[in-house]
Amino acid sequence: MQFKEVIGQDSIKTHLIQEIKSNRVSHAQMFLGPTGSNKLPIAIAFAQMLLCENPTENDSCGACASCQQVQNYVHPDLHFAFPNHGGEKDREKDHSNRERAWLDNLREDPLFDYEKWSQALGAGNKLLSLGRFEGNNISKNLSLKSFSGGYKIMIIWLQELMNSTCANNLLKILEEPPEKTLFILISENTENSLPTIISRTQILHFPKLKDEDVREYLTSISDGSENIDEAVRRSNGNLIEAREVIKGNERKAYFLEKFVHLMRSCYTKDVGLMLDWSDEASKMGREGLLDFFEYSLYMTRQSLISNYQNQLGSPSSDEAQFLEKFARFINGNNVQNIYSELNQVSYYIQRNCNPKIILTGLTFQIMRELHKA
Ligand SMILES: [Zn+2]
Repeated sequence: MQFKEVIGQDSIKTHLIQEIKSNRVSHAQMFLGPTGSNKLPIAIAFAQMLLCENPTENDSCGACASCQQVQNYVHPDLHFAFPNHGGEKDREKDHSNRERAWLDNLREDPLFDYEKWSQALGAGNKLLSLGRFEGNNISKNLSLKSFSGGYKIMIIWLQELMNSTCANNLLKILEEPPEKTLFILISENTENSLPTIISRTQILHFPKLKDEDVREYLTSISDGSENIDEAVRRSNGNLIEAREVIKGNERKAYFLEKFVHLMRSCYTKDVGLMLDWSDEASKMGREGLLDFFEYSLYMTRQSLISNYQNQLGSPSSDEAQFLEKFARFINGNNVQNIYSELNQVSYYIQRNCNPKIILTGLTFQIMRELHKA
């Protein structure tokens, strides 16, 4: 990852590039700032420039062997420590799987948060921490000689999750740092951190992203049909949140389109369109279908609410526009049956039944229900 690929944080970048150019890289740095402020991407870009064989004036070259190794997350002098769940034995036993998950996450996009990492680990509601195993791993990785003869870099993600064993281990290394070693401690807060660790690091404060930077980022990842203004406003400078808003909107728009297609073809009794719908919908896959049926239940509920109360819950403007015409077809005579049909289909999908058969069956049931007086 090159600096030029990371959006925003210009003054932080300038500061770090200056450190490299003047050969005054402080050996322990803390990147402190809110979620979604590009701390990890910038740490990686910093590491890449430091390890680069032909750096330019203000970035890594992106082409040398070292840059390629960093870009593929296989550089032998770039190490990561990340929070985990479970007992020490589990952490040790499962380490290679978890490390693979970590690297996959980085390769996909180094802009992720605690939630996403916890999901990738399958940690459920268990709290993540950096424990004894992770602390030992830090020492082990740094005891090796640098492969390239240059820097050894250790990026510790979410240092505030270190338990006291891990923190004391790190403190010992920071007190007598091995030569040419750089620690980057990524952090969202320092309330529970050892003051002795804080005092040994140079803190760089990352502000939240500016609105114009969030807008630039969203424009680069979206197909332009979404409401970017709304996402910028709701994200409050958090790029991860901004991405979630856009992704959520894209998904909702897709589900609405599929829901309209389903209801329209059933209402017009157009068997060709009904079969087309089953065909297309079955491609959503198991998880996609389960989410879609949850969405369909929501839309059925919205239809009923708008009939009886003449007001809507919180549908988007596109949904409201559809409901205005459609709601009258959902009434006391059919709502129960449509509800139980949708639930039934979810149940079958969960149990991995053939989706095409089930979805086709559903279209005929809904057709019957919509035509009940
Ligand atoms: Zn390079």
